[in-house]
Amino acid sequence: MEYSWFYLWLGAALLGLGLLLLHVWWRERRFPGTALTLSAGLLLVVSAAQALLIFGMGISGRWEVASAPFNALSITAAGLATVVWIALATRRGRESLRRGAARPQRIQELEVLAAISRLSSQAGSVEEIGGNILKAAAPAVGADAAVLLLLDSEQRMLTAQAASGIPEALWRTFEIHVSDNFNRAFMAKGKSLVVTDVGNERRLKMQLAKALGARSALVAPIRYEGTPVGTLTFYAVTAPRKFDNVAVAVAELIANEAADVLERARLQEEVIDQRERAARVLEHIGDGIFLVDGGGVIRLWNPAIAAVTGLPAAETLGRRASDVLPGWAAIEPLVPVASAPAYAAAHAETLPLDLGDRELWISVSAVQFPDGTVYALRDLTEERGIEKLKSEFVATVSHELRTPLAAVYGAAMTLRRQDVELDDDHRNRLLAVIAGESDRLAKIVAQVLTASQLDSGSFAFAVEHCEPGSLALQVVEAARVHAPSDVVITIAPGNDLPAVACDPDNLRQVLTNLVDNAVKFSPGGGEVSVSLERHEGRVLFSVRDEGLGIPPREQERIFEKFFRLDPNLTRGVGGTGLGLYICRELVRRMGGRIWVASSEGEGSTFFFELPAVAPEEHAVAEPAQASEAHAS
Ligand code: ADP
Repeated sequence: MEYSWFYLWLGAALLGLGLLLLHVWWRERRFPGTALTLSAGLLLVVSAAQALLIFGMGISGRWEVASAPFNALSITAAGLATVVWIALATRRGRESLRRGAARPQRIQELEVLAAISRLSSQAGSVEEIGGNILKAAAPAVGADAAVLLLLDSEQRMLTAQAASGIPEALWRTFEIHVSDNFNRAFMAKGKSLVVTDVGNERRLKMQLAKALGARSALVAPIRYEGTPVGTLTFYAVTAPRKFDNVAVAVAELIANEAADVLERARLQEEVIDQRERAARVLEHIGDGIFLVDGGGVIRLWNPAIAAVTGLPAAETLGRRASDVLPGWAAIEPLVPVASAPAYAAAHAETLPLDLGDRELWISVSAVQFPDGTVYALRDLTEERGIEKLKSEFVATVSHELRTPLAAVYGAAMTLRRQDVELDDDHRNRLLAVIAGESDRLAKIVAQVLTASQLDSGSFAFAVEHCEPGSLALQVVEAARVHAPSDVVITIAPGNDLPAVACDPDNLRQVLTNLVDNAVKFSPGGGEVSVSLERHEGRVLFSVRDEGLGIPPREQERIFEKFFRLDPNLTRGVGGTGLGLYICRELVRRMGGRIWVASSEGEGSTFFFELPAVAPEEHAVAEPAQASEAHAS
């Protein structure tokens, strides 16, 4: 039985040792590096146990109580036991032990904070940076999952921005309304909250925690300059632990540090967003925009200017403006350069820009700023062309009006003369001049009126079923009355033609314009032939002459408003330049199309086609209601 004390002490020592090892293993698993501190403590305890063991052996009679080794051992044991007692029993001792144990954890905290501040210097989205913060922070807090939620601008909704250890499908669309008082106060205060039992939590909404199957959670509010911006929420899913005070302190520290970094990332995102938006605006703006830096090199070239000049950005960026635009050097000094956009827009200058193969009329202004000069230009070539045509039109119409007016005036004055005896024949010829010239005047005025009604959309149509053959015959017969004797007008009205859907007055006007032109532009005489034929559900009209003809490059343009091949009347053939424009608009609105085939000096053939009315429709249908047909 003398060994019973010995076994008792041995057992107690081994148990203590085992428990300590378990504790060390557990601390080591949570906070790597803790083992170092604890091994020191372990050593102390083992030696104390050893001393007590020997003491036990002593009193069990193996050594004499008064023997020197026994004394030495007893004193050592007592000393060590006191140290252990002081360490465990006093506040300061416990504190110093805890500090020792916490040191590795602090090192880890510092590592997390260092990682976070490293992130602050990196560019990245809130999601990327937030994800990295969470990845570093979760183990330091002792969590196995974490989510970053940020408040919207109205501070009503928290939306998930990044997560760690949570499946994307769970967090990506996660959001919480936080307009209730508790949440508001909690976020404003900035103190963390530990939820020990997720299932029974009533104050905070724990949907994500529940979906994750977390047992406990730690919510650390993030505040930036005193204003709540969001939360860092940590979850213990597989870890059975509750978040202790150390974890709370670490989480708050991280939330504090993360606020700056996240705010910077958010601002960066905003700047990138703004820059992208500005770039998109430039892409879609109708005005041509280009930026020339201080060295005269083009740094930006938007699609509108590429379209206007026909030069893609790839050919202009990095080159000097005067190298890519031949006429730029000549107009650059004339472009008004302002320091504020509002002033520039109000003082744009209209200038001709030579592109080498063609000339553009541009309205251009510029604004200078530290990055260089930004030029904004608008292509006015077409407007300028119309302006030119308009002024030519005024000159032509004045001339066109003056000639018949002079004839009418002359004839009337002759008829009024008392001193001259006029025979009947003479008198009739003068009256015929007055009637004919008045008719010409009326036609010019009617053309101007029709063109203006077509432009304003107030032109009235009454679409009916017309017999094209008889209508064309009437036009030809009327034209024969006035045609010069050297022009022969023939007609081939076609066989078995279907009716066409059109306004008969308008069809008559189109045909009259074309036949009149054919006669007018055949100054040397010749044949003018009108023919009609059926053509795949349409009726094709053609008016052919053997006159002056039209050069190929002008064959499209003659249908433009005011366009005349010979605006200065060098060939002596007058006109307003409105006839073919009216023809094109009328045919288009009746659902057809018009075109020309011509060779200069040999004559021209004008074609137009109109939709035929289907036979059964023709048989039963009432005339269509007045309506405006649109271009095909
Ligand atoms: P206008 O005949 O009053 O000048 P139009 O619009 O009818 O105006 O015609 C525009 C231009 O097209 C004419 O000035 C003329 O140069 C050309 N043109 C029209 N018809 C013919 C034709 N049959 N032969 C040659 N040129 C023509």
